[in-house]
Amino acid sequence: MEYRKVGKWGVKISEVSLGSWLTFGNQLDLKATKDVVRYAVENGINFIDTAEAYANGIAESMLGVILKEYRREDLVISTKIFWGGEGPNDKGLSRKHLLEGTWNSLKRLQLDYVDILYCHRPDPEVPMEEVVWTMDQILRSGLAFYWGTSEWSAEEIEKAHQVAKELNCIPPVVEQPQYNLIFKARVEKEYAPLYEKYGMGTTIWSPLASGVLSGKYLEGIPQGSRLDKWPWLRKTMEERGIFGEETMNKLKRIKQIADDLGVTMSQLSIAWCLKNPHVSSVILGVSSLEQLKENIKAVEVKEKITEEIYQELNNIF
Ligand code: NDP
Repeated sequence: MEYRKVGKWGVKISEVSLGSWLTFGNQLDLKATKDVVRYAVENGINFIDTAEAYANGIAESMLGVILKEYRREDLVISTKIFWGGEGPNDKGLSRKHLLEGTWNSLKRLQLDYVDILYCHRPDPEVPMEEVVWTMDQILRSGLAFYWGTSEWSAEEIEKAHQVAKELNCIPPVVEQPQYNLIFKARVEKEYAPLYEKYGMGTTIWSPLASGVLSGKYLEGIPQGSRLDKWPWLRKTMEERGIFGEETMNKLKRIKQIADDLGVTMSQLSIAWCLKNPHVSSVILGVSSLEQLKENIKAVEVKEKITEEIYQELNNIF
């Protein structure tokens, strides 16, 4: 396992990490989550990602119980604030929700601090000054060590840096965007100027595009799979043409390359993400221990991707 810095910043996180969206507290109960976390940590993963929104806080509460078994210094824990409930002040990036959301997350996690705190989405209703100032205060009061953004536009991230500079506040150091063989424009093009300019890192999500890049949907939608269980997500994928003939043929091409290398399509797709030097960590989502065992091997598969194979994969989508 390689440990990468988050952009230019000092903290080191495992190149693959463990996520908790739709799995902890949904597909995985406490015992299964415990087993997954144990396997992850014993195999070198030191970074675990969650959010106040995941399973309405249950993902964080389960982690709170599980993390007691570990030395805090050995782990890098992140959570994300934005969707905290239904009330007018339970959502978004107001000073009120950022602070209350963070306190509530820490209570559920039974932690004094998280290592990275993300603003889970941009909030056009709140002035950037309010967001930056509050995140600075959260960091300076020791509730989090670093702050980041998730799915903000490059323009919004630029603005946050400008405001942080003007107000002498701590800037965001990391973005959490979607990145995989299918959806790559934001990380590769839109954010390109930010890496050098601000030394930002990325912790990327949905490396398998919710499982599509595991090849499991090539013959239809298996019962109990993510796109079967969450129809809204299936609809989003359909709207993006994932089940169209053109995309299916491209996915089959990726499967062929994986077969030729003697690896699984999931391993190849995750390993491809790891080849990008601006990716600080690839966050794995797993609904079973078996998937984790398979996917974590991507760190070895990365070595099998020659420049020629990398270019071939880049050209498919
Ligand atoms: P993936 O794209 O890797 O999707 C994970 C899902 O794919 C699994 O839950 C499983 O679903 C299926 N899968 C995984 N491995 C295999 C395999 N080997 N064979 C077959 N199916 C497999 O990642 P996620 O979308 O879960 O994202 C990862 C993490 O990123 C999340 O847990 C979360 O922490 C974070 N995230 C952040 C977001 C943000 O806005 N900042 C948004 C989304 C995620 P199943 O078995 O149910 O079909």
